[in-house]
Amino acid sequence: MIEIADLHKSFGTLQVLKGIDLKLEDGKVLVIIGPSGSGKTTLLRCFNLLEIPDQGTLALGDTVIHFNGLVTIPRKALQAVRQHTGMVFQSYNLFPHMTAIGNIMEGQVTVQKRSRDEARKRGLQLLAKVGLADKADSYPHQLSGGQQQRVAIARAMAVEPEVLLFDEPTSALDPELVGEVLKVIRQLAAEGMTMIIVTHEMKFAADVADWVILMDEGVILVQGTPQEVLIETKNPRALQFLRQTE
Ligand code: ATP
Repeated sequence: MIEIADLHKSFGTLQVLKGIDLKLEDGKVLVIIGPSGSGKTTLLRCFNLLEIPDQGTLALGDTVIHFNGLVTIPRKALQAVRQHTGMVFQSYNLFPHMTAIGNIMEGQVTVQKRSRDEARKRGLQLLAKVGLADKADSYPHQLSGGQQQRVAIARAMAVEPEVLLFDEPTSALDPELVGEVLKVIRQLAAEGMTMIIVTHEMKFAADVADWVILMDEGVILVQGTPQEVLIETKNPRALQFLRQTE
């Protein structure tokens, strides 16, 4: 279970998150949508403390952190949160000097202290899972964007996170490569992986989400099942946003 309560975040005088409350049960998929600048990425980054909230609470598994304006979070809590979350970025962020398998082994060896043999074995299994068994020894520049993103997903999975976080995982891809990445994410959803996904792909959101939140100016404007948010909402601002995405 992941829960946040009354989460606030500002950058200087710009209030980006203005009191967000959310609860996500294990095995569920939460999709975050909303206009550009509404705070989606900032909220996502608060879940693994790439951004430190100014105020509020984050609970992830056994770890509970209360934010009170302190910049430094206890190291143990930070480590616990980082170990239990895997992040997939818009621009893949693979280590360019490492092969696909090297990228997937890195966190396992350095963070989880697995042996190289063990890390390699798990890495190869994950590469097979994302359809890239034959690309283990390829470097990122030898792979297409869609393939790089699938390696990034395998890398995020490798440390066995409790939750996977996706920040617009397909928005840097050529349209013809989007499908292969969404297919992998759908497969993970079907297997019961807990995920939080920021996306502009409304059809995908409708398809994969158990719960959708639509953000606007740092607050949750509407939330509910995909049906409730994407089809039945009567909120004028939400309707305006949804029409623009059609
Ligand atoms: P998009 O869909 O365009 O990615 P978003 O909804 O994900 O937008 P955020 O990236 O969370 O929005 O940004 C929300 C606001 O916070 C924006 O005005 C952005 O410029 C600002 N912002 C984000 N990160 C920082 C930062 N590190 N320093 C200062 N301002 C920031």
